Amino acid sequence: MEASEAKSKKQGASRLCCLCNQRRPVLKRPKTLQQICKDCFYEVFEEEIHQVIVKNGLFKAGERVAIGASGGKDSTVLAYVLSELNRRHSYGLDLFLLSIDEGITGYRDDSLETVKRNELQYGLPLQILSYKDLYGWTMDDIVKMIGLKNNCTFCGVFRRQALDRGAALLKVDKLVTGHNADDIAETVLLNILRGDIARLSRCTSITTGEDGPIPRCKPFKYTYEKEIVIYPFITESFSSIVLFLHTYAYFKKLDYFSTECIYSPNAYRGFAREFIKDLERLRPRAILDIIKSGEDFRIATTTKMPEQGTCERCGYISSQKWCKACVLLDGLNRGLPKMGIGRARGGVNGDHKKETKKPASAARSLESKQCGSLDF
Ligand code: SF4
Repeated sequence: MEASEAKSKKQGASRLCCLCNQRRPVLKRPKTLQQICKDCFYEVFEEEIHQVIVKNGLFKAGERVAIGASGGKDSTVLAYVLSELNRRHSYGLDLFLLSIDEGITGYRDDSLETVKRNELQYGLPLQILSYKDLYGWTMDDIVKMIGLKNNCTFCGVFRRQALDRGAALLKVDKLVTGHNADDIAETVLLNILRGDIARLSRCTSITTGEDGPIPRCKPFKYTYEKEIVIYPFITESFSSIVLFLHTYAYFKKLDYFSTECIYSPNAYRGFAREFIKDLERLRPRAILDIIKSGEDFRIATTTKMPEQGTCERCGYISSQKWCKACVLLDGLNRGLPKMGIGRARGGVNGDHKKETKKPASAARSLESKQCGSLDF
């Protein structure tokens, strides 16, 4: 009797949103498992991001900020939400969209069409830089030469530098990326699995590269991927925000939003991702706890870290004589693409006087990195 009373009370309680207690709930919030209505969901979703921005002092009034835009759900929602918050809270930011075209036929060419629509929908100027223009190679060309092993090493290294070059062209003060809490938890786990101390020490930072050309921020650091996916869909289905109607049409017509890059090997990262999803199912807080653990790691003072310098060839930041992009490019141009992969002996960086005793894992991490798009 008591049990059935409690059950009916519980059912009665779940009929109203647990935040406003007025409207019917339409979803169980993945982060907290609260049953809430769509208006409250929008409010908490946007307010949490605003609080992250304010508490971490991510921006200053008057700054020019580029949003790394790939056309995927994370960067699309980031562009939309950041534009909204910029207006609502008078951040005073000049926002831009910055996209990199890796030259992957049937993947990036399609997703860039979305970014071009976003440019019109949000009224944000768009800059697109291509690997072909910057390096003389597309990823299609590179894969033709090297096959599907190590292709992501080239792609990730080139993208990181391409974004910095694009940010310099736009003369922005900061670059923001759509990395979400799941991405960061996954990266913490991968860096532990690889013993990559250098990356582990910085992968949870909300702002990185303050000593480099352009600082990068992650306003979605605590935002769950499942909520980012829900966000555009709820907005679309209730048609309350017209801007998303085009994106909705886009989702409906083309299915590559959920499609992996055609060159993605995805194995190691994929396992880490699945493992985190399993943990999340058992305990939603697991994602935040992994991030917290990453933040609280302390690197032993005896651990040698790479020394930061500049590439003698292109001037980009590098701990070697030549930066990784120049080494890889040189290998491609000489028809020796494997030259820059992994722990090359000798070669242009072999005699570098500033070379320090690095953990072996620092080199390994480049070899085994599965999708450089998480460096976005
Ligand atoms: Fe580039 Fe990612 Fe595709 Fe690899 S999976 S080729 S890093 S976009």
